[in-house]
Amino acid sequence: MASQDDVFKKLIAHSKEYGFVFPSSEIYDGLGAVYDYGQNGVELKNNIKRYWWDSMILLNENVVGIDAAIFMHPTTWKASGHVDAFNDPLIDNKDSKKRYRADVLIEDLLAKYDEKIDKEIQKAAKRFGDSFDEKQFRETNPRVLENQAKRDEIHARFVKALNDSDLDELKAIIVDYDVVDPISGTKNWTDVRQFNLMFSTEMGSTADGAMKIYLRPETAQGIFVNYLNVQKTGRMKIPFGIAQIGKAFRNEIVARQFIFRMREFEQMEMQFFVRPGEEMKWFEHWKEMRIRWHKALGLGDHKYRFHDHDKLAHYANAATDIEFEMPFGFKEVEGIHSRTDFDLSSHEKFSGKNIKYFDPELNQSYTPYVIETSIGVDRTFLSIMAASYCEEQLEGGDSRVVLKLPPVLAPVKVAILPLVKKDGLPEKAREIMDNLKFDFKCTYDEKDSIGKRYRRQDAIGTPFCITIDHQTLEDDCVTVRHRDNMEQERVKISDLFGIIDQQVNMKNLFRKIVK
Ligand code: ATP
Repeated sequence: MASQDDVFKKLIAHSKEYGFVFPSSEIYDGLGAVYDYGQNGVELKNNIKRYWWDSMILLNENVVGIDAAIFMHPTTWKASGHVDAFNDPLIDNKDSKKRYRADVLIEDLLAKYDEKIDKEIQKAAKRFGDSFDEKQFRETNPRVLENQAKRDEIHARFVKALNDSDLDELKAIIVDYDVVDPISGTKNWTDVRQFNLMFSTEMGSTADGAMKIYLRPETAQGIFVNYLNVQKTGRMKIPFGIAQIGKAFRNEIVARQFIFRMREFEQMEMQFFVRPGEEMKWFEHWKEMRIRWHKALGLGDHKYRFHDHDKLAHYANAATDIEFEMPFGFKEVEGIHSRTDFDLSSHEKFSGKNIKYFDPELNQSYTPYVIETSIGVDRTFLSIMAASYCEEQLEGGDSRVVLKLPPVLAPVKVAILPLVKKDGLPEKAREIMDNLKFDFKCTYDEKDSIGKRYRRQDAIGTPFCITIDHQTLEDDCVTVRHRDNMEQERVKISDLFGIIDQQVNMKNLFRKIVK
C-alpha cells in the first residue's frame, strides 16, 4: 500500500496536472508558500465559498455579509494586539539550516506518543477480539501507562511554557526529549526566538511622509471596526452576525505543506455578537452548526474531530479547532473562538469613539461579546481534495484515478460527449448542452475514444458524463454514466435536469445542516 507521504505527493502532482493548483510564478521557480488556482481549482474554490456564504447568509436571518478592504488603518493592528503579540516561536537547526516552529515540533512529539499508544491498543484489540476492554487496557498495560505518563509530562510543561511565553523552556523541552531535525537528524538547535508574522508595506510616497501599513493577517478586524455601521444601517438586533470572505497574509516561518500553510491565503470568517454572559451558549451553538456544515459534505464523519486549544489566544476565553484527517495527520481547518469583548473594547480605547450597543430590551448599553468561526478556504480545499483522491484497479487490469468530490462542489458537473464527430451527433450534443448550461457548469468533448474521455472527467471529478449516440437521434434518449460506480443508464433527455439537479443542488446539504 502507498504511504500517506506518497499519496500526498501524488495529490500535489495531480492538482497541478489537472489545473487545480499551480505554484505561483512558476516560470521563475515559484515563490515560497504562494500558490495560484487553475481553471478547475478556481471553480472548486468558488463552490466552497458559495457553500459557506449561503450557509451563513441564507440559513441565518440574523447573519449579514460585508467585504472590507485588505488595507486598514495601522492603529487597527495595535488595538487588536497583532503588532505586539502576533508571534510564532521559531528555532533553527544549525546543521540543516532549516527553520521550524518550536511549538509545532513539540506538538509533533506529543502526536508520536499518541500514535505509540494507539498502536498498542490496536494490537491488543486484534489479539483479544470481542472481549477487548479498551478502558481497562489503558489503565493497566505497562507500556501504555509509561507512554501516557511521558506524554502528560511533556504536555504539562508545554502548556505552562506557552502560557508563560517562556521561550527557554520551549527549547528545554525540545532538548530534554531528544527532538531531532528530520532532515539532518541532529539536535544542534539554536535558541527559540519570537517572530512577528505580519507583512508590512508603505502607503503614500516617502516625500509626503509614507505610512507603514500592514497586510491584514486575519479578516476579522474589518468586521470589528464596521460592526456598528452594520448594526445601525441594517437595524440589527443582538444577537447577530457578520460574515466575510477575503484574503489574509502571514509571513509563516515554516511553509512546506502545499496549500495547508500559505503566506497568502483566504479566510471565511463570521463574528457573532452576543450579550455578555451568553457567550458560552452561542459558542456551543456555533460549534454544532459548523461541524454539521463539514459533515454534510459526506467525506466521512470519522475524519473530523474537535481539539480544544492548549493555550488561549490573548483575546479568547474559550477556543476549539475543527481538525480534519489530512494525509499528514489530523490538522486544523477551522477555529471557533469566544473572543470576549476584547477587540471591541480595545478599538473603543484606541479610537476614542463610543462603539457600544444599546440593547432596547434591557434598556442598557454594553460592549457585545463575540463568538467567531474562522475557516481557511485553502485548507478546506485541501481536505476535500485529499479525501476525494482515489486510485482504483478495474476489472481487466485497467486502472483509473478518480476525484470523488462532493458533486455539489465539483468544478464541472456535466460532460457532454457525442460518440462520434459526425452524423449530426455533435449538433444534437450542442443542443443538449445549450439547455443545461444555464443551470450547470458543462464541458463539451468530442476528442479520443469514449473511454479516454471518461478518464479525463474522472480525474477532475465530473459527476455526470452524457453520451449522445445514433440512437439518440431517433428516441431522444442518452446514456448517463455515473462517476463513482461507473454505472450507465439510458434516460430521456427531458429527465436530465432532474437527475443532475438532485445530486448537485446545494439545498441538499443545507437541509442536513438545519435538519
Ligand atoms: P495554525 O495554528 O495552523 O497556524 P492558526 O490557529 O494560526 O493556524 P487561525 O488564526 O485560527 O489559525 O486562522 C483561522 C483559519 O485560517 C485556520 O483554521 C486555517 O484554516 C486558516 N489559516 C490560518 N493560517 C493559514 C495559512 N498560513 N495558510 C492557509 N490557511 C491558514
